[in-house]
Amino acid sequence: MQQKKLIVIGGGAAGFFCAVNAATQNPELKVTLVEKSNKLLSKVKVSGGGRCNVTHACFSIAEMIKKYPRGEKFVKQSFHHFFTKNTIDWFESRQVKLKTESDGRIFPQSNSSESIIECLMREANTNRIEILMNRDIQRIEKPLPTKDLFQLYSKDGSVLEADFVCIASGGFNKPEHYKWLADLGHSIETPIPSLFTFNVPKNPISELMGISVENVQVKINSTKFIQTGPILITHWGFSGPAVLKLSAFAARELAKMNYDFTITINWLADYHENSVLEKLKSIRHELASKKISNKNPFSLPQRLWEYHLTQCGIDAEIRWADLPAKQQNLLAKQLCAQLFQVKGKTTFKEEFVTAGGINLNELNANTMESKIVPHLFFAGEILNVDGITGGFNFQHAWTSGWIAAREIASLK
Ligand SMILES: Cc1cc2nc3c(=O)[nH]c(=O)nc-3n(C[C@H](O)[C@H](O)[C@H](O)COP(=O)(O)OP(=O)(O)OC[C@H]3O[C@@H](n4cnc5c(N)ncnc54)[C@H](O)[C@@H]3O)c2cc1C
Repeated sequence: MQQKKLIVIGGGAAGFFCAVNAATQNPELKVTLVEKSNKLLSKVKVSGGGRCNVTHACFSIAEMIKKYPRGEKFVKQSFHHFFTKNTIDWFESRQVKLKTESDGRIFPQSNSSESIIECLMREANTNRIEILMNRDIQRIEKPLPTKDLFQLYSKDGSVLEADFVCIASGGFNKPEHYKWLADLGHSIETPIPSLFTFNVPKNPISELMGISVENVQVKINSTKFIQTGPILITHWGFSGPAVLKLSAFAARELAKMNYDFTITINWLADYHENSVLEKLKSIRHELASKKISNKNPFSLPQRLWEYHLTQCGIDAEIRWADLPAKQQNLLAKQLCAQLFQVKGKTTFKEEFVTAGGINLNELNANTMESKIVPHLFFAGEILNVDGITGGFNFQHAWTSGWIAAREIASLK
């Protein structure tokens, strides 16, 4: 019987995972991985600040899926086949020791993404995977009754043939980059960026850059999007987990608003305006003779407390007892409902992910096979699945790559 051929398009996390697992599970298969650039696993290398946040220590599918603004239902199915524990076992059984940080992120113990890269490269060599670099696939022709193989046309004029194709070409930022996939009959959810920070140009808050506050509530006005968590004041605006999560969950709405919107910040997420007012009243009694700037009742960073006082026109030298009622009310509003105009976004530590991609209704989450073109598979960020930061995007890449591999390996 003739040897069956699999071509994996894309030398990233998902492509490698598909290629090495397909070859391991079916040694009869001839596996070729094609990469358009002259680099392999380039995002793995830079990810997590060069440490590669491989996955997250979350072992409940119900909890895990909440981290995916798009593709929640899809990963609910796919994670039943290959989940976080499988990722940990896969790497650890190949001598990559992993460690979990206090926030749940999992990294190689070496603190270097090279450990992951070396492992995947070693697996590719052991399983004799052919790797073709500088091959930009620009068109795929599906098998025809007259020609029962896929034909893959590369920019350099070469043509490759395969029985099975797995497309793991990552996310693209422009819709036109998906044309070759649309030509196969697939529809594409418009790609837009996710995971970014908010710019608040020319706002005095930026003078407090570097200050982070643990428990803040941020709301995007005129929408349902609200998040509570740490935020970081930067020299251009706001960053930190609460802002990044908002950028991900509201990615489509914010793109529609052209990144021009207002947010309301509650600097004391455990309070609302009335309860803060009550607290301020009781403090006036308790600390009547104390200087207002010296006694910061909410444990906010001192510079932030002084900033709030200045914003409300409160003289930092007055005693609590002398705080006028009008300014006391203003302070309560300032602390619980400060309004900011956001204009524009900035990429977070160069880390971003594409929201959008291949429409999930058009493939089977249990096999990653296209419902439109038999023997065509997809894996990784090319799909309309994206997660927040914390290892969730890599977990989807490993899961989808592994499922596609298992299915392909089983097709004789
Ligand atoms: C700076 C940065 C840091 C990140 N850090 C983390 C992190 O710590 N944890 C986490 O979970 N996620 C992180 N992410 C997101 C994560 O890296 C991606 O979601 C993941 O790498 C996607 O893997 P992929 O294999 O689907 O795509 P990619 O890694 O993008 O790989 C796709 C490959 O396909 C190639 N290709 C594209 N088109 C073609 C074509 N036509 N022909 C041939 N080859 C083609 C590309 O050149 C590329 O090498 C980070 C992202 C960035 C940008």
